[in-house]
Amino acid sequence: MKPHFVLCDRCLEPIESRADLVSTLVRLRPIAFHNACFVDALKDRSRRGMSAYPINSVSTNVSVALGCIVCLIGFAITHVWLFLIAAMVGPAIRAWSWWLFERHLDN
Ligand SMILES: [Zn+2]
Repeated sequence: MKPHFVLCDRCLEPIESRADLVSTLVRLRPIAFHNACFVDALKDRSRRGMSAYPINSVSTNVSVALGCIVCLIGFAITHVWLFLIAAMVGPAIRAWSWWLFERHLDN
């Protein structure tokens, strides 16, 4: 099997570990950066449509889990299917980022 390289979208160098990876949404698509390149991209505002929130952070994981719980409670109370769909958005984006980048990198 061919090795898979995760390239930083800013400097185009390979990302070596998950600790140095920041994935974020750019125009609703996960993009990988080095930690330093993500900060630089935020500062110079060269990226239009770039989210300032990393997908692969602990705070995002906690937010996604809490959002799911709130949406599932909302569905249990109201039986509105929109709550179930909303509950799946966060985990789907998180899984998409993992599938694209994190599974190819060592810790
Ligand atoms: Zn970089």
